[in-house]
Amino acid sequence: MTADSQPISPPTLSVVIPCYNEGENVALLFGRLLPVLEGLAVPFEVICVNDGSRDDTLDRLLEAQKGEARLRIVDLSRNFGKEKALSAGLFHSRGRAVVPMDADLQHPPEAIADLLAKWREGFEVVFARRDARTGQGLSEKLFAKGFYWVFDHLSDVRLPREVGDFRLMDRKVVDTINRMPERSRFMKGIFAWVGYRQAEIVYHQGERAAGTTKFNSWKLLRFAFDGLTSFSNFPLRVWGGVGAMISSLAFLYIVFRLIRAMIWGVDLPGYESILMSVLFLGGIQLLTLGIIGDYLGRVFDEVKGRPLFIVRQLYEPDGTG
Ligand code: UDP
Ligand code: MG
Repeated sequence: MTADSQPISPPTLSVVIPCYNEGENVALLFGRLLPVLEGLAVPFEVICVNDGSRDDTLDRLLEAQKGEARLRIVDLSRNFGKEKALSAGLFHSRGRAVVPMDADLQHPPEAIADLLAKWREGFEVVFARRDARTGQGLSEKLFAKGFYWVFDHLSDVRLPREVGDFRLMDRKVVDTINRMPERSRFMKGIFAWVGYRQAEIVYHQGERAAGTTKFNSWKLLRFAFDGLTSFSNFPLRVWGGVGAMISSLAFLYIVFRLIRAMIWGVDLPGYESILMSVLFLGGIQLLTLGIIGDYLGRVFDEVKGRPLFIVRQLYEPDGTG
């Protein structure tokens, strides 16, 4: 395709897809996505962000781009993680409506028509809510439930349930998110924090088309904790209350012991109780230090002011970039 076949005005729809080691899925993805997008009869672009894949994802994307002039590829300099890859994609999108989705076809492209219909009704954010969690065991489901419960109680932002990154956002919303400078990108929280007029549709989430999930339990735990600490400072503040409570109890206990000693005299010292309280308080102190350290680390990351992501190369369909 040549440069003059490029749309002059911005496309109506941008689909943003972060890809990390998704080589096997590229052909499957476009095989299903492109016909659906064609069917929508609106000008569109697809932005694939190669998040430092170690397999042949980039080659396959470039191969696909030869036959498709509406595919733009953002190649990051290394693996930055899904949240930052998504931020990079949003940053490069131009559409009046933007839909982020996964490369593994767990998000059915067919649902984009419903998202667009809601957007045309005037909603600025349209969530896609999955009808059930697939491919997850009981412990993961419980973990997710627990996480939402804690998040709801500790932060001012209410996360919609069973909603991932698959959604539609108006240009206004994307511009707002692009202007947010923070480096810790908990996208679920950021999407919820910005607000705007919201609606939702329901979709059925399938299994991964090929390959395996890029998240393990440790990464998920880290992700959940990051999300919590970037949207709530309760873990920092709670220790003031805990400290005050322990001190008051200790004070009451001292008064009680004093009176007892004055009336009945001194009895044998209890070494276990001293040991227990020292260990208990020592534990609490280390825990609070750890939590303060976590927040401090976050401040450190923000203060360094490093870019969110580094684009190695932007591959535009007409060979520019
Ligand atoms: N992904 C990414 N960078 C990463 C990890 C994942 O861009 O470091 C992409 C991945 O290629 C996929 C999406 O994020 O398109 C969701 O990943 P995955 O399907 O592994 O997550 P799950 O569906 O299991 O939550
Ligand atoms: Mg997936």
